[in-house]
Amino acid sequence: MKIKFKNANVLDKNFDVLENQDLIVEGNRIKKIQNTVKDDNATYDRVIDCDGNYLIPGIKNAHTHNAMVFLRSLSDDLPLGEWLTKYCFPNEAKLTYEDIYYFTILGIMENLSSGVVGSMDMYLDLHAMADASLKTGFRVCICDTIQKFNKIISPEEYFIELNNYKGDNGNLVKYVYGMHAEYTNTEEIIKMLSDLVHKYKVPFFVHNSETKKEVDECKERWGGLTPTQVFEKFGLYDFGGGGYHSIYLDDKDMEIYKKHDIIAVTCPGSNVKLASGIAPILKYKDYGIKVAIGTDGPASNNAIDMFREMYLTTTLQKVSNSDPAVLNAKEILNMVMINGAKCIGHSDGDVIDEGKLADIVMIDVHKPNMQPLNTFVNNLVYSASKTNVKLTMVDGKILYEDGKYFINEDENYIYKKCNELLKNLLNR
Ligand SMILES: [Zn+2]
Repeated sequence: MKIKFKNANVLDKNFDVLENQDLIVEGNRIKKIQNTVKDDNATYDRVIDCDGNYLIPGIKNAHTHNAMVFLRSLSDDLPLGEWLTKYCFPNEAKLTYEDIYYFTILGIMENLSSGVVGSMDMYLDLHAMADASLKTGFRVCICDTIQKFNKIISPEEYFIELNNYKGDNGNLVKYVYGMHAEYTNTEEIIKMLSDLVHKYKVPFFVHNSETKKEVDECKERWGGLTPTQVFEKFGLYDFGGGGYHSIYLDDKDMEIYKKHDIIAVTCPGSNVKLASGIAPILKYKDYGIKVAIGTDGPASNNAIDMFREMYLTTTLQKVSNSDPAVLNAKEILNMVMINGAKCIGHSDGDVIDEGKLADIVMIDVHKPNMQPLNTFVNNLVYSASKTNVKLTMVDGKILYEDGKYFINEDENYIYKKCNELLKNLLNR
């Protein structure tokens, strides 16, 4: 399949705008970016006139639990403990393969409409998550969610199977070692995962220091060590990885992040809604720690909307540091595109350039909130919303365009099916 986007403004690898370009996609790669020169439209399977709209690299959602859409708005505005034990855990215990498959597809649709081309998804029934990715054509990096309360299925078997799932060979579906958190695991599990991380020399991802309580209780259990220090002690971070939330890191933790190139994955929407706190991103910047951004699950956010997350990531730093000059738009784009791509294991899809993966989003600037176009990247981070996403292409295929989904499933069927499955689940 050869597709030509013509009359496009293209955000280049430095996030500067190249005006009036043709961008040519062949297969799943960006073949060429050139000034509009000639009319060679007949040689393409499809020519898309961008009419001055902007092509940007696909956004990466570096931490989510997509299938948790089923808990959205079921129980809000409650204390954390009550919310988790009364509404989340009992309903999650009832989930089947079919539930997770369809709820994940609904989550994928929401990602696509937000300009997201791939997510790092941490949830239950990894086969259902992988099947939803292959069905829709959306990239997923499955992070294992091992915890002591659940039956642990061999993570090594998952590692081998899911990194070559049904012949996909890591193109859309990837798997990384991970566990839910320090407080939901045992020393035995930590050692088992560390052995696997060392055997395959691969990164490790985990919820890390989301709340102060989590860190305080960890210190009590481990003779003063924080979760980050526990993970380092057992070598889990020896080959890099990430920490979801990473709010309450001390200086020693930050040294560890820097030393092992651990990515701090911030989830500001979830953190403000659950009153968890504000991650000190500026400090991480001083340490040279990479930051990526995720939505967290739609039960705690409640939206999968990376535009909202981008806005919150920068504005929370401005307000918490009493300084409107910190963390500019290009730094935010670096987080959701380049660092996000590293998280999901697709660094060849980080920016728009010849030879890169064709993971591309078209931003409609023919809307009041995008005019005038004084500075496009500032418009993108401070005033754009998902309503400006006109098209989302993943791996050279258009999965979302003008409000319609091309994911091998009818969108209305997915809404109906998810509501039916939810009703059954709540009545079980
Ligand atoms: Zn999470």
